[in-house]
Amino acid sequence: MIFGQNTAQRSSDLCVSCGMCCDGTLFTYADLLDGEKVRVDMLGIPTGTHKKSGKDYLHLPCPKFDGGCCSVYANRPQICQRYLCDLTRGVLNGSVSYRRAKARVTALRKRRDDLLSSIPPRVQAEIGDKPHTHLYGLLNAARKVLRILHAGSGFTPDEVRFIERAFEALKRIDRNFDRTHLLRHYGDLMRLAHG
Ligand code: SF4
Ligand code: SF4
Repeated sequence: MIFGQNTAQRSSDLCVSCGMCCDGTLFTYADLLDGEKVRVDMLGIPTGTHKKSGKDYLHLPCPKFDGGCCSVYANRPQICQRYLCDLTRGVLNGSVSYRRAKARVTALRKRRDDLLSSIPPRVQAEIGDKPHTHLYGLLNAARKVLRILHAGSGFTPDEVRFIERAFEALKRIDRNFDRTHLLRHYGDLMRLAHG
């Protein structure tokens, strides 16, 4: 498909206003192409290798995401050049208006910031020594802690609210941006909270 220049510019503008695939909101890693690791290491982006598959990846949040932009844009890894979330695809193919896409980005950023600033005390106590300032890492760590807390004494009201808000944020991510396996985990926590 050939996209109009204006449409392509709009999707680019959307990414500049978002950055959530770079800053740890949506993912904690991105797979690299075979043979790309050395070049990405030289850019100063932390990388690793999946134990099972042997595939290389870069860690997110990416340290090259600076002031809302990619500071190595011209040399960014292939995955970064190729990745399009569902929202950008929607803007490009005309199924989502730019205005609506912007509103979805703004709404998710707000939900993310609300969650990061309202971590329940018992969860914070367990994960507080780790730098969970980014949504995906926080929710992944929190779901394990919440499971243990529930098995011990059940949830407190603030933990139930946190689970509900996380579930809503993950539904939006899954529906508008990219599939996330965390949605299933928080669906299970919702059933425990309201079962
Ligand atoms: S999450 Fe989507 S809209 Fe946001 S920066 Fe990434 S590709 Fe662009
Ligand atoms: S290299 Fe650039 S585009 Fe790729 S994750 Fe880092 S900041 Fe984002």
